[in-house]
Amino acid sequence: MIFLDAAATTPVRKEVLEAMWPYLTGEFGNPSSHHALGESAANALSAARATVAKAIGCRPGEITFTSGGTEADNLAVKGIALARRARDAALNRIAISAIEHPAVEESAHYLERVHGFVVDVVPVDRYGTVTPEALRSVLRPETALASIMYANNEIGTVQPVRQLSEICAEYGVPFHTDAVQAAGWLPIDAKELGVDALSISGHKLGAPKGSGVLYAKGRLRLEPLVHGGGQERGRRSGTENVAGAVALATALALATSEQSERADRVSQLRDAFIRTILETVPGALLTGHPSQRLPSVASFCFPGTSGESVLLELERLGVVCSSGSACAAGSDAPSPVLTALGIEAEVAQTAVRFSFDSTVTAAELEQAVDAVAAAVGSVQGLGKR
Ligand code: PLP
Repeated sequence: MIFLDAAATTPVRKEVLEAMWPYLTGEFGNPSSHHALGESAANALSAARATVAKAIGCRPGEITFTSGGTEADNLAVKGIALARRARDAALNRIAISAIEHPAVEESAHYLERVHGFVVDVVPVDRYGTVTPEALRSVLRPETALASIMYANNEIGTVQPVRQLSEICAEYGVPFHTDAVQAAGWLPIDAKELGVDALSISGHKLGAPKGSGVLYAKGRLRLEPLVHGGGQERGRRSGTENVAGAVALATALALATSEQSERADRVSQLRDAFIRTILETVPGALLTGHPSQRLPSVASFCFPGTSGESVLLELERLGVVCSSGSACAAGSDAPSPVLTALGIEAEVAQTAVRFSFDSTVTAAELEQAVDAVAAAVGSVQGLGKR
């Protein structure tokens, strides 16, 4: 099997499993317990926090461990917006891009539905880029928060985060970015990006599912979403997932140290893959930005097919990929990300995303191109009969 669905999830790395193993077995303490076992767990947690802080270029106290990317996004969007409005009732608007992951989009809509916020959607251009002008057009004195993802999970487009965060700083608006797909592929130094908050998920990086992190700058207040014993400096109650935190920290440190080498290598493979697909598959359209895209994502529409049929055919031929985001799987509706780029619903329904792990090889991708040409040809042929 050739696994080209790494944007959905990745296997746990051996080094990660080894690092977390003691905290699932012998060192199983609760970090809040006042005995040696508890202290050992607390030490592991603080070491993990320091490792994550180093990778993001921040202080350990600015890191909150969560149950994954979804929770980190929820905590950022709801936590920042609610805390700011509690101090200033006029701050009742949120700006998000038109192509956010549902974890951000639905959090914003929850604030609209339940707390009376107004959501301003920043449009994207045909490549999925948020331009500085588009962001400026929605920012207002009442904007409590702007949340714009670093890199999109369906089309791989990378946003000019530094430019966008500078604009938000001009307006005094905190800027959150969902870096779930970017981490491991692009630099994630919070200061260089100029962001106030940033989300990461462990399972996209070789840590287990159910581990995540939210970076929130300095004194940025966060209204907690999970109440209880006051763990994570009161930002996220609940006995900490020590093994998960150790795993995420190990995976993030490895991915950050390998980032530039793996990004260079995989971008070249991605470019060759895209070029060959466009040359060999009649009618294939690349979605997302031609160059400002994740090294790990190649996404297309194959007009005259259905994305789901192409996927089934590809799986039969030994290639596993996805029709868009795993989160939208099972839904027949065209992807809102693709329709936001101006792609017609009928074409959007033919989308297929190939996403690569750092271990992908040229030989695998050459084999995958042949499979794609065969799968698309066979589905188009069926349609014509
Ligand atoms: N944000 C983006 C951009 C994602 O791609 C995903 C997962 O697909 C998430 C957030 C959610 O992360 P998790 O699966 O850890 O909840």
